[in-house]
Amino acid sequence: MRIAILSRNKSLYSTNRLVRTAKKAGHRVNVIDPLKCNLLLGRDRHKVFYNSSTVDKFNIAITRIGASITDYGLAVVNQFDMMSIPVINDAASIARSRDKFRCLQLLNKHNIKLPRTIMVRSPENLATAIETIGGPPVIIKLLQGTHGIGVILAESIETIESTIDTLWKLGQSIMIQEFVKESRGEDIRAFVIGGEIVAAMRRKAKIGEFRTNIHRGGHASAIRLPEEFKKTAIKSAQVMGLKIAGVDMLNSQNGPMVMEVNSTPGFEVLEKSTGINIAKKIIEFAVNYAKNYSVEGPGIT
Ligand code: ADP
Ligand code: MG
Repeated sequence: MRIAILSRNKSLYSTNRLVRTAKKAGHRVNVIDPLKCNLLLGRDRHKVFYNSSTVDKFNIAITRIGASITDYGLAVVNQFDMMSIPVINDAASIARSRDKFRCLQLLNKHNIKLPRTIMVRSPENLATAIETIGGPPVIIKLLQGTHGIGVILAESIETIESTIDTLWKLGQSIMIQEFVKESRGEDIRAFVIGGEIVAAMRRKAKIGEFRTNIHRGGHASAIRLPEEFKKTAIKSAQVMGLKIAGVDMLNSQNGPMVMEVNSTPGFEVLEKSTGINIAKKIIEFAVNYAKNYSVEGPGIT
């Protein structure tokens, strides 16, 4: 099978693991940098040019679109889709997950528990808005943040007001979220492939930090997920339409609460802490998906 991996850099751990695993299984693999793709529309229908040759013979594209290139990356993923090359994950589901508020709106509609969250765009009645989510301390979040950047803990109304004011002046959209204290700097990352949990880890923030992100110094250890967390993670991925997803959950006194669903989850720490071969599971799923896709034909987009 011919597999394209849409990724900026073949030396990134997850990309590299996918390439090596696919090759080992006898597939032909190309890493395609989305930013180097030229996308043509018009008389020749949909085409992708890459390094001056056309791209068209792939059976499947696995998308690894980083947050810094979301817009162009999504155009590229859509173009592959239009050329009837099956894509995992597709552009619509990546777009949904990249907007944190949109993601929570969808999860909320499907009765998945999440921290109380309020989106505001006016300084009037800010204090009342904060009361509706339980009062300070609260988390202020940028809608497009990643790796813990843009997640701020604010302890008092004054800090909340001045932080939000600054962010608005910088043109950022934000949401305010209840701080789930009982999680005590711990959360759970579940990795979902094709509607199944393949691995999970508990992440613990470093001392003095509430964010558990590995990029912020967090530590991970393997866990067996309790049933309730499994169900929540699987349903969250399904609601977002993501075939591959990293679901971040807090262990609240009311059970699992979802904070976000990642559409391009890295798996270096997960593989290292669990010993599970995530790359193999992704390639196997992608290959199966591609086989069934050619039987069913392209979906309508
Ligand atoms: P990012 O995309 O930057 O990872 P998240 O929404 O996953 O953003 O938040 C980053 C981290 O901050 C989480 O992994 C968690 O440790 C902490 N965190 C986020 N929201 C809350 C919250 N409402 N209550 C407690 N901790 C939170
Ligand atoms: Mg996260």
